[in-house]
Amino acid sequence: MEFSSKLLENAVNAMSQLPGVGKRTALRLVLHLLRQPQEQTLQLSKALSTMRSDIQFCKSCNNISDLNICEICSNPNRDESIICVVEDVRDVMAIENTSSFKGLYHVLGGKISPMDGIGPSELCIDPLVEKVKQGHVKELIFALSSTMEGDTTNFYIYKQIQDYNIFTSTIARGISVGDEIEYADEITLGRSIVNRIPFEISLKA
Ligand SMILES: [Zn+2]
Repeated sequence: MEFSSKLLENAVNAMSQLPGVGKRTALRLVLHLLRQPQEQTLQLSKALSTMRSDIQFCKSCNNISDLNICEICSNPNRDESIICVVEDVRDVMAIENTSSFKGLYHVLGGKISPMDGIGPSELCIDPLVEKVKQGHVKELIFALSSTMEGDTTNFYIYKQIQDYNIFTSTIARGISVGDEIEYADEITLGRSIVNRIPFEISLKA
């Protein structure tokens, strides 16, 4: 790509560092910004740099937060005896959107993946085990993605805490609401049969 301006080229190169943004898309975005009022671009760059410098990770659950302790952990109406273990902040947001969970979260920051060089020590696992050891936790819900890495991570944590006499559960893997059975992939369908629930319970859901 030949640029008529070094400044333009720098901006495009920086923008194309983002995942899923190739050089052409980066150029389109940069040219869009150039056409906008300067104030708008300044707002964007200020929001990004302030976020980068001021953002914190909750000291208790490792969720992204503006404060030392996030709003979920500091909410007295949440049940601190139930902890839902998730990979990252997007999972917290997705589960919060359902309004069906009133416990706390623990954000691992990823999942164990030897292929990507991510071992247990790269993740926020020790503080979770420490929390369980302190004895206030009654149940851990594993809500990691249904992949080999997710299963490995669940099992690793389970081994660390199995002697502490707490209840562990995993979210049911099933057919999405509205899905046709015949279009479900076989792993999903297989798990949904293995994890079948009494029909009466499905009526209450
Ligand atoms: Zn928190």
